[in-house]
Amino acid sequence: MGVQLKSRAEIAAMREAGRVVATILAALRDATRPGVTTGDLDDLAAEMIRKAGVKSAFKGYAPGGRKPFPGVICASINEEIVHGIPSKRRKLRDGDIIGLDFGIIQDGWFGDSAVTVAVGEVPEETARLVRVTKEALDLGIAQARPGNRIYDIGAAIQAHVEAHGYAVVRDFVGHGVGRRLHEEPQVPNYGPGGQGMRIKPGMVLAIEPMVNVGTWQVEELDDDWTAVTADGKLSAHFEHTIAVTEDGPVVLTLP
Ligand code: MG
Ligand code: MG
Repeated sequence: MGVQLKSRAEIAAMREAGRVVATILAALRDATRPGVTTGDLDDLAAEMIRKAGVKSAFKGYAPGGRKPFPGVICASINEEIVHGIPSKRRKLRDGDIIGLDFGIIQDGWFGDSAVTVAVGEVPEETARLVRVTKEALDLGIAQARPGNRIYDIGAAIQAHVEAHGYAVVRDFVGHGVGRRLHEEPQVPNYGPGGQGMRIKPGMVLAIEPMVNVGTWQVEELDDDWTAVTADGKLSAHFEHTIAVTEDGPVVLTLP
């Protein structure tokens, strides 16, 4: 289908979708504490989706013959990287980290964003992983400007992550987003820079580094969805939907 460049008006509509995503994600972050289940967080998000009059981007999503995703959030705890299924049986504990990935559709436009949140008090080395992953996202976003190439984004992410002794996940990548959740181009979280498609104004991209303390390698649980680190060590994930303009990147998934 190729890259779908968005007009200024279309980017403005996606900004509104992004605002809803960010508002609900902020509420989920505030509700995250020891004793809460990932199913409780999913219920909160579902209620806020209903009140906002928008649709979930994730519930029922079933690419390539997978079981339809049952939640409106992905909730990935500790060694879970992405695509964790929310459950009333998964209770958060002090010292956990949880990746909350959330998307909606408003007026036909998708917004997609993720944060990793510390539950209660976490060890300093855990907080460092979360901080470095967020920094890597910001550095990747800064590369999303006209004239650069798609792999410049991942090269900046990878350089920052590896400078801190961590590894970037290869098996999952960022993506174009718009009328569909996943559009072209793919946006890897690794280099080498200077490769891939030229970045143009009107591109809207979901940039989403997944960063592991140990190996970058991934395993998938037999629930058809949850991706975990192959060595059981911690992983963190941040994501924003951004638009490329003549002046550089604009983050759409902000309150
Ligand atoms: Mg996402
Ligand atoms: Mg995404």
